[in-house]
Amino acid sequence: MNKLLTFLKVSFQLALIYGVAAFLITVGIGPDGLFPEAFAAFAGLKLALYIFFMTHLTITAMSLCFHRAHTHKGVKFHPAIDLVMQVWLWATTSMSKLDWVSIHAYHHATSDSVDDPHSPVQKGLARVFFLGVADYSHAKDHPDVLKIRKRLPATAFEKFIAENLFVGPILLGASLVVAFGPIWGLVLMTSTFLISPVFAVGGVNALAHYFGYRNHKTTDNSRNLGFLFILNWMICGELDHNNHHAHPSSCSFRHKPWEFDIGFAYIKILSWMGLAEIKHVYKPKAKLPTVVQTPEAEPSLA
Ligand SMILES: [Zn+2]
Ligand SMILES: [Zn+2]
Repeated sequence: MNKLLTFLKVSFQLALIYGVAAFLITVGIGPDGLFPEAFAAFAGLKLALYIFFMTHLTITAMSLCFHRAHTHKGVKFHPAIDLVMQVWLWATTSMSKLDWVSIHAYHHATSDSVDDPHSPVQKGLARVFFLGVADYSHAKDHPDVLKIRKRLPATAFEKFIAENLFVGPILLGASLVVAFGPIWGLVLMTSTFLISPVFAVGGVNALAHYFGYRNHKTTDNSRNLGFLFILNWMICGELDHNNHHAHPSSCSFRHKPWEFDIGFAYIKILSWMGLAEIKHVYKPKAKLPTVVQTPEAEPSLA
């Protein structure tokens, strides 16, 4: 009940802030923003493209920064790149590194057991798919998650983000209203805000712990779904999830020649540019070449 009241209170505050900001911006620059023609034609198509590319950008930042770098330490990014990704995630998902990393580390420690915050094996597929974001929110206060959170290193700015989660989306909402006016601003802001619950929480945690094939025997029910190529591209290669659970410290989720991980391709490009340091990459046990014994190959005793 307390959670519901807090949710209603925060929603009301956000609506109030958004309404006042939209009014002031509209009075200042006109009702259709700086780019009034942006959605005048092909609005549906443009909105679909916006959702497609925003999903890719946002889940890529989440996968590279929160997941592969800060939780599993498979890669280390240049501080400027890391900061850009954290600010992007703050604005588009209202999430902080401290919450995300501690909850995800707890997911690995308890994967598909009764303690897992978002296991479709325990809670059912529909529950994790549609209400996973509520479980994420609830898991923040779990004593074991808080213990992990306390041990995480954090800069002053990362602590500021964690304590002011709603400032990021307000800044994004205000920018969208300035650019496209209050109606399209609200449509785009709502679409952006739904990306993380639908694709990250619902997509990876629900589907990739339920459907798909397994390359590795793990104690959880993680699966690989990377063959859903478009979806896997959109969410930065995260669908080959059994590979990830078997070797979490690897910053590449590609374990077989036919699998593809766009996230690792980005990491390689950033590494070539000197903006990322690759720490761990999974390598299948190198097969020893077959030795053909011939008289010439016999070791000489001479
Ligand atoms: Zn998992
Ligand atoms: Zn992980």
